[in-house]
Amino acid sequence: MFSGAIPAWQHDCAAFVWMPYCQMKTAPWPVPVVRTEGVHLILADGTRLIDGMASWWTACHGYNHPHIRRAVEDQLQRMPHVMLGGVHHEPALRLASRLVGLLPGSLNHVFYCDSGSVAVEVALKMAVQFWLNRGRSGRTRFVCFENGYHGDTTGAMSACDPITSMHARFQDFLPQQYSCPVPLTNNDFRAFEKLISTHHNEIAGVILEPLIQGAGGMRFHPAESLSRIRDVCDRQNVLLIADEIATGFGRTGSMFACEQAAVVPDIVCLGKALTGGTMALAATAASDEVFDAFLSDDPAHALMHGPTFMGNPLACAAAGASLDLFETEPRLRQVSDIEHTLRDVLERCRRMPRVVDVRCRGAVGVVQVEELHDLPRLQARFVQRGVWLRPLRDVIYLTPPLTISTAELNELCEAVVRVVDEWSRW
Ligand code: PMP
Repeated sequence: MFSGAIPAWQHDCAAFVWMPYCQMKTAPWPVPVVRTEGVHLILADGTRLIDGMASWWTACHGYNHPHIRRAVEDQLQRMPHVMLGGVHHEPALRLASRLVGLLPGSLNHVFYCDSGSVAVEVALKMAVQFWLNRGRSGRTRFVCFENGYHGDTTGAMSACDPITSMHARFQDFLPQQYSCPVPLTNNDFRAFEKLISTHHNEIAGVILEPLIQGAGGMRFHPAESLSRIRDVCDRQNVLLIADEIATGFGRTGSMFACEQAAVVPDIVCLGKALTGGTMALAATAASDEVFDAFLSDDPAHALMHGPTFMGNPLACAAAGASLDLFETEPRLRQVSDIEHTLRDVLERCRRMPRVVDVRCRGAVGVVQVEELHDLPRLQARFVQRGVWLRPLRDVIYLTPPLTISTAELNELCEAVVRVVDEWSRW
């Protein structure tokens, strides 16, 4: 994939790093990245690639934004880290109050952790214990959606699609949840509500990725489905957990995807772009109602969770600076411009052989194909064309930095159109 000279650090040390989602025996060598700049990854031989993935949806302001860098540098001088247990510090508190101000409804209570998967674990624990603290034992299962994806830890894996997910092999190991298609039609909604009412005494809540299901297949559903799911949860008295880890922070065209359906979840998970792509930080925010169920004279009613690096001051400083940028720079307008360009250019793939669908929503563009054969060759062609993409199962998808210029986005999309055209004739 990389045609330059392999740098010594990669040659000497690559064998010691176990790479993610990777068959280590057959995978091509990863590209050696030495620097980032704007929307570019810069490789060891000086090659510049436009990052079409924003490092897994994180780098919403592009890389090395000076405002975030300064905030992190200042924080580094004062206090890189301190435990949050029994300690308050300004970056964590100020960030929580700003997040609460941005989130809809009464999602007023922020629990920090260091990855999206753990934010999901915390959300599941909150939901189960919400019922326990109210004297309702046995409500330990969740309704999840086909093609859903919520992370790679045990509880999060259990909430992914039980059949098509990459975690399907672990079914015997995982807690068993209820799964159904994302409801679209009246019939779907009847089946969804029946599933909940039939198992009501076991169900703590429903968990979903609002508007866009990501790693499970980049599928979209309308805002109306989301609001009707909220109505069913209300009628059936189960909690709604919105996993906004990928969709949050502007990606779908609004700060949070739930806003487009005027839905307020009971619990929301945030991560990925929270720090503008600079550091590991995630959060689970709960409504007043959920939080209040943990207030008690009984110590056992407390939420027993506490990651060592929760609320890391450097990461909170980065996240605060990232929120400044959402206030001072026109990110949401940029998302709408990106959506127009994605639609215009990617549309040309629709009539190519073996292309099944082209769809765009916010700053997410998807070319779905019948089956992605020869993935390493496809990825190498993208690199040769100067772009970084990591297709997934049957989709080639783009989630570029929200700051990408029109010229850069056109270059990225043109590369996709040309490479998909070549690929469709391999
Ligand atoms: N939920 C969703 C919707 C995600 O896209 C991801 C990450 N791909 C996660 C949870 C897990 O986040 P992390 O990789 O930070 O653990």
